[in-house]
Amino acid sequence: MCLFCKIRDGQIPAKVVHRDEQCLAFEDINPQAPTHVLIIPNKHIATVSELVPEDREVVGQLFLTAAKIARERGIADTGYRVVMNTGDNAGQTVFHIHLHLLGGRPMHWPPG
Ligand code: IMP
Repeated sequence: MCLFCKIRDGQIPAKVVHRDEQCLAFEDINPQAPTHVLIIPNKHIATVSELVPEDREVVGQLFLTAAKIARERGIADTGYRVVMNTGDNAGQTVFHIHLHLLGGRPMHWPPG
């Protein structure tokens, strides 16, 4: 079972900030900004490239959850970044899709 499936199932501890029927959000273990939350689908999907049309709703829920957490953290007005690394060249290290929610500091573009 993959690392994030284990977190989903409570086999590995995490600081959970949101849970619903479709997704789970928890604090990144190595935060790159004052807010760094990962939002994952409960369903194991390895990469964006593996998404199928039936995943439409859960992908929407990932973004809605990111926006909700951003509002709760008070970073919605100042701005934040949501990003999903896909594959080796993009730096994906955990192959269970996850939306990074980063905020609380200015972001630079393009990312490294
Ligand atoms: P990626 O590089 O886009 O795949 O992002 C993986 C993220 O997972 C990184 O930001 C890691 O810091 C984070 N991460 C790895 N292991 C854990 C963990 O056990 N708990 C929470 N976050 C983790």
